[in-house]
Amino acid sequence: MGWLWVGRGLVGGGGGSTGIDLGLSSYAVLHGRKIASPKFFRRQEKKLRRAQRKLSRAEKGSNNRRKAKLAVAEIHARIADQRRDFIEQETTRIVRENQAVYVEDLNVKGMGTRRGKLGKSIHDQSLGMFVRTLEAKCDRYGRGFVKVSRWFPSTQLCSACGALTGPKGHEQLHIRRWVCDCGTEHDRDQNAERNLRAEGRTIFAAGQAEK
Ligand SMILES: [Zn+2]
Repeated sequence: MGWLWVGRGLVGGGGGSTGIDLGLSSYAVLHGRKIASPKFFRRQEKKLRRAQRKLSRAEKGSNNRRKAKLAVAEIHARIADQRRDFIEQETTRIVRENQAVYVEDLNVKGMGTRRGKLGKSIHDQSLGMFVRTLEAKCDRYGRGFVKVSRWFPSTQLCSACGALTGPKGHEQLHIRRWVCDCGTEHDRDQNAERNLRAEGRTIFAAGQAEK
């Protein structure tokens, strides 16, 4: 199985570790808790679309157009502020709670697919920043940080028996719970987090052994 080792720093005593399953029904699923997708993402997106429509209808060179332009810029600035605050807060908490974090490679979920032609949603755009910020904080505070390859089947793999019996990709996005042939019932996201955690740990241990 291909993987990417980006960990560093020695893991100190105490504190747990967590896999981080990103961006489907929740913003992120961690070991033992979920981070809900913030409501402001959708709210601001709606406001932004409305403001952009207004701008596109305003006559060139008019006072209204100038105002509409300003309104769009203000919404963009507010989105950036809220996104940064949200990411700062959540990544700080993760680093405080864990000695090592195992994040899936972002391309796993095909970012931007939800909005199609309209481009990436605010939510999708924020995921890249979330992972970069988390990695920087792990680095700063000596936490382990591992990115698990996009090819690792975190969703399909049964975390109990290791069979590939789980839901597959985007076609089966609606499947939230499933039962493996081994009889274990799974929550899709929690199962993915468990798999990422186990895989991340293995990668992390291998990296430490090489040093
Ligand atoms: Zn199983």
